[in-house]
Amino acid sequence: MGRNAANTRMTYGRFLDYLDAGRVTAVDLYDGGRTAIIEAVDPELDNRVQRWRVDLPGNSPDLVSRLRDASISLDSHPPRNDGALVGALGNLLFPLLLIGGLFFLFRRSSVGPGGPGQAMNFGKSKARFMMEAKTGVMFDDVAGIDEAKEELQEVVTFLKKPERFTAIGARIPKGVLLVGPPGTGKTLLAKAIAGEAGVPFFSISGSEFVEMFVGVGASRVRDLFKKAKENAPCIIFIDEIDAVGRQRGAGIGGGNDEREQTLNQLLTEMDGFEGNTGIIIIAATNRADVLDSALLRPGRFDRQVTVDPPDIKGRLEILEVHARNKKLAEDISLEAIARRTPGFTGADLANLLNEAAILTARRRKEAITMLEVDDAVDRVIAGMEGTPLVDSKSKRLIAYHEIGHAIVGTLVKDHDPVQKVTLVPRGQAQGLTWFTPNEEQMLISRSQLLARITGALGGRAAEEVIFGDAEVTTGAGNDLQQVTSMARQMVTRFGMSDLGPLSLESSQGEVFLGRDWLSRSEYSEEIASRIDGQVRTIVDHCYDSARRIMQENRALIDRLVDLLVEKETIDGDEFRQIVSEYTVVPDKQQFVPQL
Ligand code: ADP
Ligand code: ZN
Ligand code: MG
Repeated sequence: MGRNAANTRMTYGRFLDYLDAGRVTAVDLYDGGRTAIIEAVDPELDNRVQRWRVDLPGNSPDLVSRLRDASISLDSHPPRNDGALVGALGNLLFPLLLIGGLFFLFRRSSVGPGGPGQAMNFGKSKARFMMEAKTGVMFDDVAGIDEAKEELQEVVTFLKKPERFTAIGARIPKGVLLVGPPGTGKTLLAKAIAGEAGVPFFSISGSEFVEMFVGVGASRVRDLFKKAKENAPCIIFIDEIDAVGRQRGAGIGGGNDEREQTLNQLLTEMDGFEGNTGIIIIAATNRADVLDSALLRPGRFDRQVTVDPPDIKGRLEILEVHARNKKLAEDISLEAIARRTPGFTGADLANLLNEAAILTARRRKEAITMLEVDDAVDRVIAGMEGTPLVDSKSKRLIAYHEIGHAIVGTLVKDHDPVQKVTLVPRGQAQGLTWFTPNEEQMLISRSQLLARITGALGGRAAEEVIFGDAEVTTGAGNDLQQVTSMARQMVTRFGMSDLGPLSLESSQGEVFLGRDWLSRSEYSEEIASRIDGQVRTIVDHCYDSARRIMQENRALIDRLVDLLVEKETIDGDEFRQIVSEYTVVPDKQQFVPQL
């Protein structure tokens, strides 16, 4: 099911009501559990199955167990990779884990009989704007994104002391566009500006307009600006502005009248007041490149502020903010947590400390210790812990799969070291191998990529070598997805193949976003087939390497599997200790995948 399948939004509260009423039949989680596409029976439409999009309040384990208790079909989808280098290499967290999701069966992918016809749901979910007289958020509550904060400091002064600027003839900007991935603190920043300036905060989300009948969005925008003018000085916050502000006339299926009318109304309103009215519009998006250029013209959103995911120092500062109201044990090192969480956004870190606090309470401890934090990291990345299988053929198969990842990760040159291997299931994975990234590393070399591909193939290689061709399982599905994506990007984006240093594709943009789509195939059929050939060569060579490692280390692998089945978790040091008993000192004599 595509994430775009349901355009109609349902509030979280209503979703809970539907859940109570037993109407929900399926839930698909996206964005690390922040968004869900749900299927539910709609009594007002002859009990037909309809789909809605629901924004969830972050990772909610209780919800998941509730869904499971009610036997509601539940599935979860990997996050999208958007833009930037971070996204380019798959998820930065990739080196941390390779999921051996054995027996993760494809639950359901059929489209409900409801089909499209979502406009019918209109009237139940009208986009309304919200007003907060006092947000109570201050700049002190926002951490780790100092540059963005500095740029926005001035906006507070515009609101508090406009005379200072108007007196000398300066035009106060009307609009500021915050650009950054979800969870980096854009909404928080906007609220902090309102809080610091002591002005009301009006907010609305662009995605809510897309579902409505023509004309409704435009009138909503009119209402919003009218209310805002009555309450000036104030902040108007438009979240997900790309939903309304996309390039007009682009996108599959042509334009969307409702969206265009809403956008036009927004432009008209922005032009219709003077900069010194005391209204500043802040909009947020995770991609500025798809926005209609009319929005970015002077006098509209003429300021752009980038909000990046925090680096290690930023993560530490964010952890400090969220640790303020928590009881921490002496042994807690926020620095160690910051080091363990590359790729985490502010929202992820807030969620992490909260999970740790919940675990602490559940364990009836006085204060959060490192143990709870570590467990919470595991849970935030990989999902809830389940009960391990009893010793059986499938348990051994999973053990071989995971040991396969871990052994390749240990013996291949330039791979991140194993942190632990476990057969305790988490989320959809029946077993997991965790790797520790060596350092905060922004650039990744060709040899590291080859090592990662080889490591990710280790699970399947083990299944094949140990159990034979006929016994390989669906458990490697996720691994293979990662493998293919990494190999393809090596060829098409990073110039790391025989095709030479060419950039043949931009990031894996989503097709439906319009502009990307138009410039989709920049190369000929011939190049396309050469790309496929190169991808295949890379993957084949890495797979050969992985298989060779299995064949040459059979005794070692059998011993590790026995130990893993017995203990369920082996940590990195013990793992390396055993490996070194069988092979020449592992980190000196490492295996290099030959290409
Ligand atoms: P965005 O709007 O960029 O998706 P939010 O502002 O909604 O992200 O962030 C969600 C929550 O995550 C915030 O309410 C806050 O608790 C936490 N958070 C995110 N970024 C930061 C940050 N830079 N500093 C402190 N907390 C943050
Ligand atoms: Zn695997
Ligand atoms: Mg937000």
